[in-house]
Amino acid sequence: MNCDKLGATEPAPLNHLDGVLWHEHGQASFTGQALRLFHLIDQLFLRWAHLWAAQPYEFPTMISAKELNKIGYFRSFPHLVTFAAGADKECQQQMAKEDCLGQDGCLALSGLTPISEVLTPAACYHFYINLEGSKFDSASYYTTVAKCFRRESEYMPLKRQSSFSMREIVCIGSAQEVTSFLENFQVLLSRFFESHGLPVKFVQATDPFFDPKTSPKYLMQKLQPIKTEMVFDGHLAIGSLNFHRNFFGEAYGLERNSKAAYSGCVAFGLERWMYALMSPYGDQLRREMWTQRLNAA
Ligand code: AMP
Ligand code: ZN
Repeated sequence: MNCDKLGATEPAPLNHLDGVLWHEHGQASFTGQALRLFHLIDQLFLRWAHLWAAQPYEFPTMISAKELNKIGYFRSFPHLVTFAAGADKECQQQMAKEDCLGQDGCLALSGLTPISEVLTPAACYHFYINLEGSKFDSASYYTTVAKCFRRESEYMPLKRQSSFSMREIVCIGSAQEVTSFLENFQVLLSRFFESHGLPVKFVQATDPFFDPKTSPKYLMQKLQPIKTEMVFDGHLAIGSLNFHRNFFGEAYGLERNSKAAYSGCVAFGLERWMYALMSPYGDQLRREMWTQRLNAA
């Protein structure tokens, strides 16, 4: 693989993993062993999702800007947004006439169409939007895996990418139902990390707000923690457990017991799990076991 972006001081977990192709601007392609690992990890997540009989969904790549605005996404995370835009009439003519690619490898274009959609920044938003107005007779569970897009200040293969894969398992129900879901999931995960010799700790965290100092949502998350991250080897969040209270229930008219429903999600970053499972940290046996599984897959 091309590890240009891995600095000299970076440990080399990827030496143990063939088939990662690293691209400029923070994207990766997988084949061979890496692709098998990617699928094995997602199968593991799916088995966990089945424990809650989570209904699987497949969503489009883009998500409505209007809907994201409704939940304050652009105010909170303007630095992460990735646009999906088309060329306006004038710009189409310009492209048809001349080579628009500049020396810097970027397109020099005159005009883009209005931006009504952006590339999905987190998988679970699609559920609340798609389920708008639903009344739930019991706690309901859903799962999806989505390519997610976030602009970051720097990129590193598997660890920090501009596009990465996120598997989520979501619970919509009463406060009690959502709390139990998150607690039970955390117990399952603790057992998994322990039995696989993975050095992962659960750490209370906040979302990466653009301007935490002035964000009322940041202050609220600080006062009443709602996000717990699964931190691998003291530095890399490979997943998170999130309690949204009735925030999405209120925004999208989701009801449980005639009141705004509560929701919570467990989110896993697949590429970061690939990194963690193959890294030289933690239990040597674990890496050997996953390597064997990979060779058998
Ligand atoms: P979050 O919604 O921020 O809790 O993200 C869920 C999970 O997605 C994180 O715990 C990471 O495992 C993964 N993730 C988030 N951002 C990135 C990124 N830039 N590159 C790779 N994985 C990421
Ligand atoms: Zn989520």
